[in-house]
Amino acid sequence: TLEQLRHADRLRTVGTLASGIAHELGTPLNVISMRAKMIATGEVPTDEAASNATIIAAQADRVTKIVRQLLDFARRRTPKRSDAELGDLAERAANLLSTLAKKSNVAIVVNRHDPVRAHVDAAQIEQALTNLVINAVHAMPKGGTVSIDVRRTRSAPPASEAERDCAVLEISDEGVGIAPEHLVRIFEPFFTTKGVGEGTGLGLSVTHGIAEDHEGWMTAKSTVGKGTTFMLYLPV
Ligand code: ADP
Repeated sequence: TLEQLRHADRLRTVGTLASGIAHELGTPLNVISMRAKMIATGEVPTDEAASNATIIAAQADRVTKIVRQLLDFARRRTPKRSDAELGDLAERAANLLSTLAKKSNVAIVVNRHDPVRAHVDAAQIEQALTNLVINAVHAMPKGGTVSIDVRRTRSAPPASEAERDCAVLEISDEGVGIAPEHLVRIFEPFFTTKGVGEGTGLGLSVTHGIAEDHEGWMTAKSTVGKGTTFMLYLPV
């Protein structure tokens, strides 16, 4: 039955997630354990103890960051909804990140094409927008513009024929873009192209989860070297 299929699907997802977590936490914990033992047994000369401790601290920070994001990911609480103007939420996310953006020579522009009121968890939508804008800023090391376009549209969710009235929040950047073979994987938990200690690969999973919890969905389009647009659809 469909229900059994869904269950099997969910178990597979949990399995993938569990092995991802084991791997992501196992690697830094291994480094911590090895370095600490080397210091303890005197295998490391005393003058190198400090630099080893620095490595241990960095790896411990990484574990902490992963655990924090995993909790966000697991929390998946039912949205606490109230009426909100999506343009206002976009402005708020933009204001929140303006200092960070300025440091990276990035301007965040909000374009309200239509007024769109929706019944949403404002904090969750702001978190989703924040994740997307931070990724956009990271994608533009030389600076540029991130636009958040807010409009009304009619669109069909993936794997459905039926169009529905929605709000769409489009977050566009002029950054490095995403290669097609990566684009199909970006919403997977732990998928990251960022270096060790920089990305956890959980941001877009959290964002995608927030869209789903609102009966919405997400898509992305990208051109390498030109930029990326993420679309967050919310039924209204
Ligand atoms: P993280 O940022 O920790 O890597 P995310 O889940 O937020 O995790 O993103 C996964 C990957 O998707 C990133 O590592 C990056 O390769 C790609 N990505 C996400 N947003 C963008 C963007 N705006 N431009 C280019 N690549 C992006």
